[in-house]
Amino acid sequence: MSCGQVNPQKDYKLRNYKNISVLKPKECIFCKSKEIIKWSFRFNHTTKKQRWKCNFCNKLFTVDDGFFHLHKKRELLTTCLDLYMNGLSLRKIRNHIKQFTEQGISHMQILRWIIKYSQILTNYTRNFEPQLSGVYHADEIFIKCNKQQHYLFDMIDKGTRFLISSYYSTKRDSKSAKILFIKAKHKPLTLFTDSLQAYRKAYRKVWGARTNREDKETYIRLKADKDKRNNIVERIQGTIRERIKVIRGFKNKESAEHILNLFLIWYNFIRVHQGINMTPAQKAGINLNLNQNKWLDLIYSSKKN
Ligand SMILES: [Zn+2]
Repeated sequence: MSCGQVNPQKDYKLRNYKNISVLKPKECIFCKSKEIIKWSFRFNHTTKKQRWKCNFCNKLFTVDDGFFHLHKKRELLTTCLDLYMNGLSLRKIRNHIKQFTEQGISHMQILRWIIKYSQILTNYTRNFEPQLSGVYHADEIFIKCNKQQHYLFDMIDKGTRFLISSYYSTKRDSKSAKILFIKAKHKPLTLFTDSLQAYRKAYRKVWGARTNREDKETYIRLKADKDKRNNIVERIQGTIRERIKVIRGFKNKESAEHILNLFLIWYNFIRVHQGINMTPAQKAGINLNLNQNKWLDLIYSSKKN
């Protein structure tokens, strides 16, 4: 690793380390033995890390705190993620970083970070159980990817503004809508959609036919765009649409999926929603105690368990 070249052992006392990582491992990463003890620290450019020694195999190791093999400052990484989600293009971020920090960075590096942390955080946040109001709105957004027309299906809980599920698809069909519903796990108390046929078909397949009168209240198709019941969702969709429009780099389906996944995490966990004055995750009872740099804390907590 290139961090070894600084000879940090020599001048580490002079450095003011902002990030001190002391995550305790459950077992030795080599032999899985539980007999581990603290064994001094490991230093690099930016971080002071607790080092551990295994009493069984005598090997030394540090724990992955979410920033393993990162050669840049953590704050730089989280700044890049945040600027991107706030609508700056990769190249604009690169220029911004160049102007205000000593460390330069390439736009491809930023994209690689987005993809990496999209995967880590999606895996982490997937199993949360948000407390929802049960009134869902489903909709789809057009996305341009490699000059083709694709779609992002998404479903929002009205009370908490929490994005329950989303699905990126090349087609606007009932199969995609079906996957959207399945990913939501729970059947909604009430579901609102636009008049797209695909939703009706998907609803029947996932949650059964609307047979009695009670069922007819649980699934409502809004025919007119001006239906007032759709106002809140229109606003949320507006935010999503607006951000997605400026997010570029949809060169292929795969990177588009990663970018959109990270976008959803930003929307649910990082961004303070003006209507409710907190993040949708907080409103839904998921309290992760994220401090000022929410990205940093979210990445840390993804590795804590
Ligand atoms: Zn060991």
